[in-house]
Amino acid sequence: MDIIVLKPSAKDKDIRHIVKKLESKGLRSHVSKGTERTIIGVIGDTSKISEDEVAGVRAIDAVEDVMRIIKPYKLASREFKKESTVIDVGGVKIGGKKIPIIAGPCAVESKVIVKNIATKVKDAGASFIRGGAFKPRTSPYSFQGLGEEGLKILAHAREKTGLQVVTEIMDPRDLDVMVQYSDIIQIGARNMQNFRLLLEVGTINKPVLLKRGLSATIKEWLMAAEYIMSKGNLNVILCERGIRTFETSTRNTLDLSAIPVLKEQTHLPVIVDPSHAVGKRSLVAPMSKAAVAAGADGLLIEVHTDPEEALSDGEQSLTPDAFAELINELIPIAKAVGRSI
Ligand code: PEP
Ligand code: MN
Repeated sequence: MDIIVLKPSAKDKDIRHIVKKLESKGLRSHVSKGTERTIIGVIGDTSKISEDEVAGVRAIDAVEDVMRIIKPYKLASREFKKESTVIDVGGVKIGGKKIPIIAGPCAVESKVIVKNIATKVKDAGASFIRGGAFKPRTSPYSFQGLGEEGLKILAHAREKTGLQVVTEIMDPRDLDVMVQYSDIIQIGARNMQNFRLLLEVGTINKPVLLKRGLSATIKEWLMAAEYIMSKGNLNVILCERGIRTFETSTRNTLDLSAIPVLKEQTHLPVIVDPSHAVGKRSLVAPMSKAAVAAGADGLLIEVHTDPEEALSDGEQSLTPDAFAELINELIPIAKAVGRSI
């Protein structure tokens, strides 16, 4: 907490109370009395002051607002690390000049389907195969995924194509098998604030793809990244996948401005998932292009050889041909912003 703004009604005794409170925390104050209101500048190492302690100061009647200069997230902040983080996943760099593409079905459905999709997206230029083995479905009666069998299918596709595997973890109890079979572990939007799960993936040495929560602010999202990083795993990739708004024409609203905002605030790579953001096949290509233009470090795109028969998210899945065409169209856009696909 660096600046405390007092209400116009604040009295000298309120100021003395706050100054004393700060002193008890080892901090000094600089009281500046203006014509309208008084502002207290806090001097000292405020980085150790917790959010709860800040809330305590904010709760004082005479206090109008408390502004923190030091960000509540530290390891994730640009202040902590000026250079952008480049994460090397088996030779594929995320956060560098080249923009890697993660592609694949929503869910792992069968060995043959995943292998076919993997072969096709690899030919088109993807670096990662994705697919859920543990699916976070809204309805308990919808297809929940193949579990460990699905992870084995992904590993088999990696063996056949050389693509690396991205898949979602839902339960800390699956951590060991997830580590065994995948190259990047995804935390889905619904689990962005599952703090125990975040702490668990913070202990492993595999990169974590952290999706933005359905209604999460950028600050909450960075705090979630901080949870993972606080346990020692600094390889966090942020994935914007659309947020809930009042708009119903798309499944979610893709927050493209999150990309440049995050680039200012964090050194972590930022990728975009246009598929879950728009929820509709025809909108995936334009938003992929916009994401690359806005500075995305990677894309996550759902692709299925037979979207009509897909067990989940068929409406937003591209066919392999449409995916290949999109990759070609992205090449000049990446070049225009000093990147490559
Ligand atoms: C997914 O990537 O399959 C998924 C469920 O996405 P999200 O968590 O963004 O909804
Ligand atoms: Mn999906």
